[in-house]
Amino acid sequence: MNILVMKFGGTSLADPEKIQRAAARVARARRQGFAVASVVSAPGQVTDELLSLARRVARRAPARELDALMAAGEQISIALLASALLGRGVPAASLTGVQAGVRARGPHGAADIAGVRPARVLKELARGRAAVVAGFQGVNGKGDVVTLGRGGSDLTAAALAAALKAKACEIYTDVKGVYTADPRLVPQARKIGKISFYEMLALAEAGAQVMQPRSISYAQSRGVRLHVRSAFHDAEGTWIGADAAGKGGVKALAVSRLGSRARVSAVGRGLRPKDAESMREVLRACGIACRGVEFSAFRASCEVDAREAVPALRALHKAWSLGRREASSG
Ligand code: ADP
Ligand code: ASP
Ligand code: MG
Repeated sequence: MNILVMKFGGTSLADPEKIQRAAARVARARRQGFAVASVVSAPGQVTDELLSLARRVARRAPARELDALMAAGEQISIALLASALLGRGVPAASLTGVQAGVRARGPHGAADIAGVRPARVLKELARGRAAVVAGFQGVNGKGDVVTLGRGGSDLTAAALAAALKAKACEIYTDVKGVYTADPRLVPQARKIGKISFYEMLALAEAGAQVMQPRSISYAQSRGVRLHVRSAFHDAEGTWIGADAAGKGGVKALAVSRLGSRARVSAVGRGLRPKDAESMREVLRACGIACRGVEFSAFRASCEVDAREAVPALRALHKAWSLGRREASSG
């Protein structure tokens, strides 16, 4: 079987029309000859809404019950996407994490995937059905439902793709791929054609929300190729794979907020101390004070006042011409 994993994020399933568009994509991949296992997140802001509902009922709901609650979000999506597929005449079956054989270990709210037993998913695919699997949830050794940390559907997708030996793992989201910086914060940001696992992991750890960090390590360790692309446009997105040759240097920027402070990071391959030095100088030249400079081969970063994080990103993006460079090598 030629298996494709297609993961749809929450923004790509936020309303009935978007769910229909996701169904149309799955149907098209099937017409192209793929057996499709999709992985879905909770629609729109449902996870946040469930958490705020819990806070209104009990100020400190136990983590086990919060997991039972949050898992319900993804269960909405599997039922709706499977129904949309069936409505189009595409055979489909919704599967919770437990049904799909997603085994997890670790604390409630931040569990890790221990492995996937894909027998049920394979059985559905062999019967010619599209499998629609709930992301972000698994079952632990006690038989309880656990969630994988925010953004965890990416990890489900990578793990399922590995277990199914899928051709590729497509991550459908609300941007056209991985950009040189968050395109919502830096309008000049450019889509990157290819990025290595190491660079993507550094970018995700630096705060780029587009992929959950553990999904990258998982995909890397199991050799799963990831393709981050738009749920609403057909163009190729960004391929994340083994390190390609090509020149290194700063490839993308990210920011993570820590209360009133923020850490601005530059990520790339083969970074040198001069990149951290250049970062400090660019920021100093625009009057942005930075401290706590840190440096490694994949990341140079410093801390700024949270209110200066976006101006800092824009200044660095411009000074290093990240928008103009054809950032598709490596
Ligand atoms: P999904 O609901 O599909 O999981 P997320 O909200 O988790 O989507 O991730 C997509 C968002 O990540 C984008 O809307 C974008 O604002 C943000 N983002 C942050 N950094 C980047 C980047 N470097 N490239 C692309 N998107 C980024
Ligand atoms: N619904 C979960 C979250 O909001 C998981 C995910 O979207 O990947 O974090
Ligand atoms: Mg996400």
